[in-house]
Amino acid sequence: MTQTATRGKTVLVTGGAGFIGSHLCERMLAEGHRVICLDNFQTGRRRTIAKLVDTPNFTLIEADIIRLPAISGPVDRIYNMACAASPPLYQADPVHTLMTNIVGVNNLLMLAAEKGARFLQASTSEVYGDPLVHPQSEDYWGNVNCTGPRACYDEGKRSAETLCFEYLRARRVDTRVARLFNTYGAHMRPDDGRIVSNLICQALMNEPLTIYGSGQQTRSFCYVSDLVDGLVALMEYQVNPETPINLGNPGEFTIIELADMVREMVPGTPELTFMPLPVDDPQRRRPDIRRAKELLGWSPRIQLRAGLEKTMEWFRAELPAVASQTTARISSSRP
Ligand code: UDP
Repeated sequence: MTQTATRGKTVLVTGGAGFIGSHLCERMLAEGHRVICLDNFQTGRRRTIAKLVDTPNFTLIEADIIRLPAISGPVDRIYNMACAASPPLYQADPVHTLMTNIVGVNNLLMLAAEKGARFLQASTSEVYGDPLVHPQSEDYWGNVNCTGPRACYDEGKRSAETLCFEYLRARRVDTRVARLFNTYGAHMRPDDGRIVSNLICQALMNEPLTIYGSGQQTRSFCYVSDLVDGLVALMEYQVNPETPINLGNPGEFTIIELADMVREMVPGTPELTFMPLPVDDPQRRRPDIRRAKELLGWSPRIQLRAGLEKTMEWFRAELPAVASQTTARISSSRP
Protein backbone atom coordinates (compact mmCIF):
# COMPACT_ATOMS: atom_id res chain seq x y z
CA MET A 1 0.00 0.00 0.00
CA THR A 2 1.45 3.34 -0.98
CA GLN A 3 -0.94 6.20 -1.61
CA THR A 4 -0.03 8.99 -4.00
CA ALA A 5 -1.55 12.33 -4.91
CA THR A 6 -2.66 12.82 -8.49
CA ARG A 7 0.44 13.92 -10.44
CA GLY A 8 1.14 17.56 -11.12
CA LYS A 9 0.11 19.19 -7.86
CA THR A 10 1.99 22.03 -6.18
CA VAL A 11 3.21 20.87 -2.80
CA LEU A 12 4.64 23.23 -0.20
CA VAL A 13 6.97 21.46 2.23
CA THR A 14 7.89 23.72 5.14
CA GLY A 15 11.01 22.52 6.90
CA GLY A 16 11.81 20.97 3.53
CA ALA A 17 15.58 21.04 4.09
CA GLY A 18 15.26 19.16 7.37
CA PHE A 19 15.60 15.46 8.03
CA ILE A 20 12.07 14.26 7.19
CA GLY A 21 11.13 17.27 5.04
CA SER A 22 13.96 16.60 2.59
CA HIS A 23 12.78 13.01 2.09
CA LEU A 24 9.29 14.30 1.50
CA CYS A 25 10.56 16.79 -1.14
CA GLU A 26 12.33 13.92 -2.94
CA ARG A 27 9.22 11.78 -2.79
CA MET A 28 6.95 14.53 -4.14
CA LEU A 29 9.33 15.29 -7.03
CA ALA A 30 9.58 11.57 -7.85
CA GLU A 31 5.78 11.47 -8.01
CA GLY A 32 5.74 14.28 -10.57
CA HIS A 33 4.67 17.21 -8.38
CA ARG A 34 6.05 20.72 -8.20
CA VAL A 35 7.72 21.31 -4.86
CA ILE A 36 8.14 24.55 -2.98
CA CYS A 37 10.60 23.91 -0.18
CA LEU A 38 10.57 26.54 2.54
CA ASP A 39 13.19 26.45 5.29
CA ASN A 40 14.89 28.91 7.63
CA PHE A 41 18.00 26.68 7.88
CA GLN A 42 17.91 26.84 11.67
CA THR A 43 18.34 23.07 11.78
CA GLY A 44 17.73 22.17 8.12
CA ARG A 45 20.85 21.88 5.97
CA ARG A 46 21.59 22.91 2.40
CA ARG A 47 23.41 19.60 1.95
CA THR A 48 20.18 17.61 2.26
CA ILE A 49 18.59 19.37 -0.72
CA ALA A 50 21.76 20.10 -2.73
CA LYS A 51 20.85 17.63 -5.43
CA LEU A 52 17.30 18.98 -5.73
CA VAL A 53 17.98 22.69 -6.21
CA ASP A 54 18.64 22.45 -9.95
CA THR A 55 15.59 20.26 -10.58
CA PRO A 56 13.03 22.13 -12.74
CA ASN A 57 10.06 21.41 -10.47
CA PHE A 58 11.83 22.51 -7.28
CA THR A 59 11.76 26.00 -5.77
CA LEU A 60 13.57 26.94 -2.57
CA ILE A 61 12.37 29.78 -0.35
CA GLU A 62 14.58 30.73 2.58
CA ALA A 63 12.17 31.99 5.23
CA ASP A 64 10.82 31.39 8.70
CA ILE A 65 7.16 30.38 9.01
CA ILE A 66 6.84 32.92 11.85
CA ARG A 67 7.35 35.62 9.20
CA LEU A 68 5.84 33.80 6.26
CA PRO A 69 6.35 35.58 2.93
CA ALA A 70 3.61 35.79 0.29
CA ILE A 71 3.62 32.72 -1.94
CA SER A 72 2.37 33.29 -5.45
CA GLY A 73 0.46 30.81 -7.57
CA PRO A 74 -1.56 27.77 -6.60
CA VAL A 75 -0.71 25.50 -3.67
CA ASP A 76 -2.58 22.20 -3.37
CA ARG A 77 -0.88 20.55 -0.42
CA ILE A 78 1.05 21.89 2.58
CA TYR A 79 3.15 19.53 4.68
CA ASN A 80 4.31 21.40 7.78
CA MET A 81 7.57 19.80 8.89
CA ALA A 82 9.06 23.08 10.17
CA CYS A 83 10.36 22.90 13.73
CA ALA A 84 13.60 21.91 15.43
CA ALA A 85 12.85 18.40 16.73
CA SER A 86 15.77 17.22 18.83
CA PRO A 87 15.69 18.20 22.52
CA PRO A 88 19.04 20.09 22.57
CA LEU A 89 18.16 21.98 19.37
CA TYR A 90 14.55 22.86 20.23
CA GLN A 91 15.67 23.95 23.72
CA ALA A 92 18.39 26.21 22.29
CA ASP A 93 15.77 28.90 21.50
CA PRO A 94 12.65 27.77 23.37
CA VAL A 95 10.51 30.85 22.69
CA HIS A 96 11.20 30.52 18.97
CA THR A 97 10.20 26.84 19.18
CA LEU A 98 6.90 27.71 20.83
CA MET A 99 6.16 30.55 18.41
CA THR A 100 7.01 28.33 15.42
CA ASN A 101 4.18 26.08 16.51
CA ILE A 102 1.68 28.83 17.27
CA VAL A 103 2.36 31.90 15.11
CA GLY A 104 4.07 29.86 12.37
CA VAL A 105 1.35 27.22 12.18
CA ASN A 106 -1.38 29.87 12.22
CA ASN A 107 0.35 31.66 9.32
CA LEU A 108 0.43 28.40 7.35
CA LEU A 109 -3.20 27.64 8.12
CA MET A 110 -4.20 31.10 6.84
CA LEU A 111 -2.17 30.40 3.69
CA ALA A 112 -3.90 27.02 3.31
CA ALA A 113 -7.31 28.72 3.68
CA GLU A 114 -6.38 31.33 1.05
CA LYS A 115 -5.13 28.73 -1.44
CA GLY A 116 -7.71 26.03 -0.69
CA ALA A 117 -4.81 23.69 0.12
CA ARG A 118 -5.00 20.52 2.16
CA PHE A 119 -2.76 20.79 5.25
CA LEU A 120 -0.82 18.13 7.13
CA GLN A 121 0.73 18.97 10.48
CA ALA A 122 3.73 16.95 11.67
CA SER A 123 2.82 16.54 15.32
CA THR A 124 4.68 14.30 17.70
CA SER A 125 4.53 11.54 20.30
CA GLU A 126 5.78 14.29 22.66
CA VAL A 127 2.14 15.34 23.04
CA TYR A 128 1.84 12.25 25.28
CA GLY A 129 4.67 13.58 27.52
CA ASP A 130 5.86 10.99 30.04
CA PRO A 131 2.88 8.70 29.37
CA LEU A 132 0.85 6.98 32.08
CA VAL A 133 -0.84 4.77 29.47
CA HIS A 134 1.10 2.24 27.45
CA PRO A 135 1.18 1.85 24.47
CA GLN A 136 -0.07 5.30 23.52
CA SER A 137 -3.27 5.48 21.48
CA GLU A 138 -4.60 8.69 19.98
CA ASP A 139 -7.33 8.84 22.64
CA TYR A 140 -4.80 9.26 25.44
CA TRP A 141 -4.56 12.94 26.43
CA GLY A 142 -0.99 12.76 27.69
CA ASN A 143 1.06 13.72 30.71
CA VAL A 144 3.03 16.85 29.90
CA ASN A 145 4.83 19.19 32.29
CA CYS A 146 3.78 22.58 30.94
CA THR A 147 6.58 24.50 32.69
CA GLY A 148 9.51 22.13 32.11
CA PRO A 149 12.34 22.43 29.58
CA ARG A 150 10.56 20.21 27.04
CA ALA A 151 7.34 22.26 27.23
CA CYS A 152 8.32 24.67 24.45
CA TYR A 153 8.13 21.73 22.07
CA ASP A 154 5.45 19.56 23.72
CA GLU A 155 3.03 22.38 24.45
CA GLY A 156 3.90 24.06 21.15
CA LYS A 157 2.94 20.92 19.25
CA ARG A 158 -0.20 20.50 21.35
CA SER A 159 -1.19 24.11 20.52
CA ALA A 160 -0.51 23.44 16.84
CA GLU A 161 -2.90 20.47 17.00
CA THR A 162 -5.52 22.70 18.64
CA LEU A 163 -5.16 25.25 15.83
CA CYS A 164 -5.51 22.52 13.20
CA PHE A 165 -8.68 21.17 14.76
CA GLU A 166 -10.19 24.68 15.14
CA TYR A 167 -9.59 25.42 11.44
CA LEU A 168 -11.08 22.02 10.61
CA ARG A 169 -14.16 22.49 12.82
CA ALA A 170 -14.73 25.90 11.27
CA ARG A 171 -14.42 24.20 7.83
CA ARG A 172 -11.74 26.69 6.86
CA VAL A 173 -9.03 24.10 6.03
CA ASP A 174 -8.89 20.34 5.49
CA THR A 175 -6.28 19.72 8.20
CA ARG A 176 -4.73 16.38 9.06
CA VAL A 177 -2.54 15.68 12.07
CA ALA A 178 0.11 12.96 12.18
CA ARG A 179 1.77 12.16 15.53
CA LEU A 180 5.29 11.08 14.66
CA PHE A 181 7.19 8.77 16.98
CA ASN A 182 11.02 8.66 16.95
CA THR A 183 12.17 8.53 13.35
CA TYR A 184 15.67 7.86 12.02
CA GLY A 185 17.56 7.40 8.76
CA ALA A 186 19.65 9.24 6.18
CA HIS A 187 19.71 13.08 6.30
CA MET A 188 19.75 13.30 10.11
CA ARG A 189 22.19 15.92 11.32
CA PRO A 190 25.23 14.15 12.78
CA ASP A 191 25.20 16.73 15.59
CA ASP A 192 21.48 16.89 16.27
CA GLY A 193 21.88 15.17 19.62
CA ARG A 194 19.30 12.43 19.20
CA ILE A 195 19.93 8.89 20.21
CA VAL A 196 20.28 7.15 16.83
CA SER A 197 22.52 9.81 15.26
CA ASN A 198 24.60 10.13 18.44
CA LEU A 199 25.19 6.38 18.84
CA ILE A 200 26.00 5.76 15.19
CA CYS A 201 28.35 8.74 14.91
CA GLN A 202 30.06 7.91 18.20
CA ALA A 203 30.59 4.30 17.08
CA LEU A 204 31.98 5.41 13.72
CA MET A 205 34.33 7.87 15.44
CA ASN A 206 35.42 5.16 17.90
CA GLU A 207 34.11 7.10 20.89
CA PRO A 208 32.21 5.72 23.91
CA LEU A 209 28.43 5.64 23.41
CA THR A 210 26.64 8.11 25.67
CA ILE A 211 23.72 6.70 27.65
CA TYR A 212 21.56 9.15 29.60
CA GLY A 213 20.21 7.72 32.86
CA SER A 214 20.14 3.94 33.28
CA GLY A 215 19.38 3.30 29.61
CA GLN A 216 16.30 1.30 30.65
CA GLN A 217 13.97 3.95 29.19
CA THR A 218 12.35 2.80 25.94
CA ARG A 219 11.63 4.28 22.52
CA SER A 220 10.11 2.96 19.29
CA PHE A 221 12.06 3.76 16.15
CA CYS A 222 10.55 4.19 12.69
CA TYR A 223 12.68 4.22 9.55
CA VAL A 224 12.19 7.41 7.54
CA SER A 225 10.89 5.83 4.30
CA ASP A 226 8.12 4.07 6.27
CA LEU A 227 7.24 7.34 7.93
CA VAL A 228 7.05 9.21 4.62
CA ASP A 229 4.72 6.49 3.28
CA GLY A 230 2.46 7.14 6.28
CA LEU A 231 2.48 10.93 5.85
CA VAL A 232 1.52 10.67 2.18
CA ALA A 233 -1.16 8.09 2.95
CA LEU A 234 -2.70 10.40 5.54
CA MET A 235 -2.52 13.45 3.26
CA GLU A 236 -4.14 11.59 0.37
CA TYR A 237 -6.76 9.65 2.34
CA GLN A 238 -10.02 10.40 0.57
CA VAL A 239 -11.92 11.68 3.61
CA ASN A 240 -10.68 13.71 6.54
CA PRO A 241 -10.20 11.27 9.44
CA GLU A 242 -11.02 14.07 11.96
CA THR A 243 -8.63 12.53 14.45
CA PRO A 244 -4.88 12.64 14.92
CA ILE A 245 -3.10 9.55 13.61
CA ASN A 246 -0.07 7.94 15.25
CA LEU A 247 2.74 7.10 12.82
CA GLY A 248 5.57 5.04 14.26
CA ASN A 249 7.03 1.59 14.51
CA PRO A 250 5.57 -0.30 17.49
CA GLY A 251 8.79 -2.25 18.10
CA GLU A 252 9.91 -1.05 21.56
CA PHE A 253 13.57 -1.09 22.65
CA THR A 254 15.49 0.09 25.67
CA ILE A 255 18.27 2.55 24.95
CA ILE A 256 20.77 -0.10 26.13
CA GLU A 257 19.35 -2.59 23.59
CA LEU A 258 19.76 0.00 20.87
CA ALA A 259 23.35 0.71 21.95
CA ASP A 260 24.14 -3.03 21.96
CA MET A 261 22.88 -3.32 18.37
CA VAL A 262 25.09 -0.43 17.28
CA ARG A 263 28.11 -1.93 19.06
CA GLU A 264 27.54 -5.27 17.31
CA MET A 265 27.52 -3.47 13.98
CA VAL A 266 30.80 -1.64 14.68
CA PRO A 267 33.14 -4.10 16.39
CA GLY A 268 35.65 -2.45 18.70
CA THR A 269 33.32 0.36 19.80
CA PRO A 270 34.44 1.55 23.27
CA GLU A 271 32.33 0.88 26.39
CA LEU A 272 29.20 2.84 27.23
CA THR A 273 29.50 6.03 29.21
CA PHE A 274 26.61 6.96 31.51
CA MET A 275 25.43 10.57 31.93
CA PRO A 276 22.55 12.17 33.86
CA LEU A 277 19.03 11.70 32.53
CA PRO A 278 17.65 14.96 31.07
CA VAL A 279 14.79 16.61 33.01
CA ASP A 280 11.34 15.21 32.08
CA ASP A 281 12.83 12.53 29.80
CA PRO A 282 9.93 10.12 29.09
CA GLN A 283 10.38 6.60 30.48
CA ARG A 284 8.41 4.70 27.85
CA ARG A 285 7.24 5.33 24.32
CA ARG A 286 5.41 2.98 21.99
CA PRO A 287 2.71 3.82 19.47
CA ASP A 288 -0.61 2.06 19.18
CA ILE A 289 -0.94 2.18 15.37
CA ARG A 290 -4.29 0.42 14.97
CA ARG A 291 -5.91 3.58 13.63
CA ALA A 292 -3.26 4.07 10.91
CA LYS A 293 -3.59 0.41 9.96
CA GLU A 294 -7.37 0.39 9.83
CA LEU A 295 -7.91 3.77 8.15
CA LEU A 296 -4.88 4.12 5.91
CA GLY A 297 -3.80 0.51 5.50
CA TRP A 298 -0.37 1.70 6.68
CA SER A 299 2.15 -0.09 8.82
CA PRO A 300 5.95 0.14 8.89
CA ARG A 301 7.96 -2.49 7.04
CA ILE A 302 11.58 -1.85 7.99
CA GLN A 303 12.85 -3.62 11.10
CA LEU A 304 15.21 -1.76 13.41
CA ARG A 305 18.37 -3.69 12.55
CA ALA A 306 17.85 -3.27 8.78
CA GLY A 307 17.09 0.42 9.21
CA LEU A 308 20.14 0.96 11.41
CA GLU A 309 22.33 -0.69 8.77
CA LYS A 310 21.02 1.65 6.05
CA THR A 311 21.47 4.63 8.37
CA MET A 312 25.00 3.60 9.29
CA GLU A 313 25.89 3.21 5.63
CA TRP A 314 24.70 6.77 4.99
CA PHE A 315 26.61 8.19 7.98
CA ARG A 316 29.81 6.41 6.88
CA ALA A 317 29.73 8.53 3.73
CA GLU A 318 28.43 11.67 5.44
CA LEU A 319 30.73 11.91 8.45
CA PRO A 320 34.08 12.41 6.66
CA ALA A 321 32.48 15.14 4.55
CA VAL A 322 31.31 17.17 7.55
CA ALA A 323 33.74 15.92 10.21
CA SER A 324 35.46 19.22 10.92
CA GLN A 325 32.18 20.98 11.79
CA THR A 326 30.50 18.20 13.70
CA THR A 327 32.99 16.08 15.62
CA ALA A 328 33.42 18.50 18.48
CA ARG A 329 29.69 19.07 18.83
CA ILE A 330 28.80 15.36 18.99
CA SER A 331 31.56 14.64 21.50
CA SER A 332 30.45 17.45 23.75
CA SER A 333 26.70 16.72 23.53
CA ARG A 334 25.17 16.88 26.98
CA PRO A 335 21.67 16.12 28.23
N1 UDP B 1 19.71 9.49 24.83
C1 UDP B 1 20.84 8.83 25.29
N2 UDP B 1 22.05 9.18 24.76
C2 UDP B 1 22.18 10.11 23.78
C3 UDP B 1 21.02 10.77 23.30
C4 UDP B 1 19.79 10.43 23.85
O1 UDP B 1 20.76 7.96 26.17
O2 UDP B 1 23.31 10.35 23.33
C5 UDP B 1 18.39 9.08 25.40
C6 UDP B 1 17.48 10.24 25.80
O3 UDP B 1 17.73 10.62 27.14
C7 UDP B 1 16.11 9.58 25.62
C8 UDP B 1 16.30 8.64 24.44
O4 UDP B 1 17.70 8.42 24.35
O5 UDP B 1 15.77 8.81 26.76
C9 UDP B 1 15.79 9.23 23.14
O6 UDP B 1 16.32 10.51 23.02
P1 UDP B 1 16.13 11.42 21.74
O7 UDP B 1 16.75 12.74 22.03
O8 UDP B 1 16.61 10.69 20.53
O9 UDP B 1 14.55 11.56 21.54
P2 UDP B 1 13.32 11.87 22.52
O10 UDP B 1 13.77 11.98 23.94
O11 UDP B 1 12.77 13.16 22.02
O12 UDP B 1 12.42 10.70 22.33
